[in-house]
Amino acid sequence: MAEGLLIVGEDVCAEVVSSADAFTAVEAVFGAMAKGDAYNFPVIREAIGYADALYGFKSGFDKAGKTLGVKSGGYWPGNMDKGLTNHQSTIFLFDPDTGMLQALVGGNYLTAVRTAASSSVSIAHLARKDAKVLGMVGAGHQSTFQLRAAAQQRDFEKVVAWNPHPEMLPRLGSVAKELGLAFEAVTQEDLGAQSDVIITITSAFEPLLMKGWIKPGTHIACMGTDTKGKQEIDPEIFTTATAFADEIAQSTTIGEAQHAIASGLIGKTEITPIGAVINSDHPGRSAADEITLFDGTGVGLQDLAVASVAAEQAEKQGKATRVAL
Ligand code: NAD
Repeated sequence: MAEGLLIVGEDVCAEVVSSADAFTAVEAVFGAMAKGDAYNFPVIREAIGYADALYGFKSGFDKAGKTLGVKSGGYWPGNMDKGLTNHQSTIFLFDPDTGMLQALVGGNYLTAVRTAASSSVSIAHLARKDAKVLGMVGAGHQSTFQLRAAAQQRDFEKVVAWNPHPEMLPRLGSVAKELGLAFEAVTQEDLGAQSDVIITITSAFEPLLMKGWIKPGTHIACMGTDTKGKQEIDPEIFTTATAFADEIAQSTTIGEAQHAIASGLIGKTEITPIGAVINSDHPGRSAADEITLFDGTGVGLQDLAVASVAAEQAEKQGKATRVAL
């Protein structure tokens, strides 16, 4: 990159980073993590005791992609009333050779697109090729990004959805319609009975899907649990599923696997980094009736990977602002 600081705003990020770009960047960084070429630093997340806000940092270094940086931001529950998104973040990229600040990149759109890319990478590598029904548990901000990205991975015909707040479901229904997919609001049990792929993306603190409801051959991507105490599925599902994660350390402490680990249902060694499948070091799914599970906790390196694409593309397309430092 040339000298000076590159500034890439939210609107430009949405213009220059597609869901396919995010998929490529996230798949590459998961592969680099599994090879030990990229690593995440410990996450900081604190209640700041003001405006009910949670604030923190996610950072890391990808030696293979030469990406060093940090995503800083958090959750401000009062923002919605001010016409702002509750989740707010900015990504800072540094030159790994000099430590100079290279780019400031808006992190809100990128967080959604990199989270959707994560479940979508898991679907690409682990779901049955003949999957036809996509089950969505959750209908908040992230859910439509999840649905759009998943729809690119398999020849789905139908979306079934459940949300604890059913009044939020029509927005998923309209995205399904736009994608040419049938849509049905269903009960949790029916969602399990119909789905070949399930994405959970809620802020739940208790199981929303029970083991007996999941049919053989299903792929489940658990995306909502990213904090201690959160939970979306019955931990017993881990005893029958083949489990994968973006990063084992996060999966077992702040991810969906935290509960199965804490109750001794499984050990850490029973979870495989998805990067091992990407790198062809693990076969992934090995039978049509196998249940596969992906625990996507969200790592800093995903943010850095998509921010790096945003900075590069914005500069190339003349859409970034450059200022002297
Ligand atoms: P949102 O506030 O827009 O939507 C929240 C969703 O959770 C809605 O479907 C809502 O009905 C449901 N919900 C709210 N309270 C609930 C409760 N007590 N029990 C069950 N469900 C409840 O949030 P969002 O931006 O769509 O994010 C959804 C989840 O995904 C959050 O938990 C967020 O922290 C998480 N997230 C994860 C990653 C990752 O990388 N894994 C990235 C971004 C967000």
